[in-house]
Amino acid sequence: ETVRVELGDRSYDILIGPGLLGDAGRHVSTVLPGIRAAIVTDDNVAQHHLETVRQSLADAGIETAEIVVPAGEPSKSFATLQEVVSRILDARLERGDAVIALGGGVIGDLAGFAAAIVRRGMNFVQMPTTLLAQVDSSVGGKTGINAPHGKNLVGAFYQPRLVLADTAALDTLPAREFRAGYAEVVKYGLIDRPDFFAWLEGNWPAIRDGGPERIRAIAESCRAKADVVARDEREAGDRALLNLGHTFGHALEAAAKYDPAILVHGEGVAIGMVLAHEFSARMNLASPDDARRVAAHLENAGLPTNLDGMKTHLRDADSMLGFIRQDKKVTRGALNFILTRGVGRSFIAKDVPESEVRGFLVDKIGQ
Ligand code: NAD
Ligand code: ZN
Repeated sequence: ETVRVELGDRSYDILIGPGLLGDAGRHVSTVLPGIRAAIVTDDNVAQHHLETVRQSLADAGIETAEIVVPAGEPSKSFATLQEVVSRILDARLERGDAVIALGGGVIGDLAGFAAAIVRRGMNFVQMPTTLLAQVDSSVGGKTGINAPHGKNLVGAFYQPRLVLADTAALDTLPAREFRAGYAEVVKYGLIDRPDFFAWLEGNWPAIRDGGPERIRAIAESCRAKADVVARDEREAGDRALLNLGHTFGHALEAAAKYDPAILVHGEGVAIGMVLAHEFSARMNLASPDDARRVAAHLENAGLPTNLDGMKTHLRDADSMLGFIRQDKKVTRGALNFILTRGVGRSFIAKDVPESEVRGFLVDKIGQ
């Protein structure tokens, strides 16, 4: 499957299917003939997939330097960025050469930002190896690192020249990471694709087990994201819809101190999407049946859908509200929220009164 991201002269293809990493050399040299490359990856992904990619590139005559950083969110730092930049320059790569991100969203964001700033912008290729990265972070051009002040505060919009989403590479992904990425797949259905959501309800087991349904789910998700990005590359408007479930989700991640042992991003998003539907029902925008339907499917996929597991980390409604205020979607007493009129009918709500959110949270968590 191929999904094209339409961005004028920066348009590019996302190739989706099993075994693409083993064919990486051919695909890269088609788009970027005669280059050399730095492969940036993490120590988990390196064990499973680095040799496959390196060999395929070598067979296509692409000389590589391999840069392996520690797995995990802490690698999205100034220190690791500096290390990656130094190694790219050590290898004497030029602007026309490529930085290849082989890994999950952490590697994509880090390597993409390095590609954006070394020599004012080298060619960049994404080889996402988590479900989250294949359906979300590798598409759309947001790159960057974290600052001590918060997540993703330093970065650039920088589009890749090619994305290779090898759906078989997901077979080595821990089950929990796969489920977490699936929350983002469900998100696209809930934003504006009700038929896709209905299809997902019937096909989760096949998607998990890696049949053609997995390819279809990933391709449809990439189309959904590519659509939004083509309409609004720099998040002046519609791109904000992609934050469905994320205001509550980010607050929960913060409450869990960003400890992945407690909550990973997709799990926060799963709970957050259910809360967004429940909150919409409370505001008489949607039916409570929609919230129940969303929760049932996410639960079926093994994702958390309520605050039960978070009780020890959430003292009261106001502590949660505090975390929501810290999120960037807050302006002076009113919140920007993605709300919904039902499954697949989400919209951007500006100026949601904080008191409404507080009332909802008091019902959920208690004073
Ligand atoms: P991740 O990159 O940390 O990967 C999750 C874990 O899976 C890591 O331990 C990794 O080593 C391991 N892993 C990756 N691929 C594997 C494979 N095929 N087999 C075995 N193990 C594998 O996390 P993620 O969930 O992919 O990405 C999260 C990051 O993405 C966050 O930093 C987030 O801010 C960012 N993000 C960016 C965007 C964007 O638009 N740029 C969008 C969403 C999220
Ligand atoms: Zn997300």
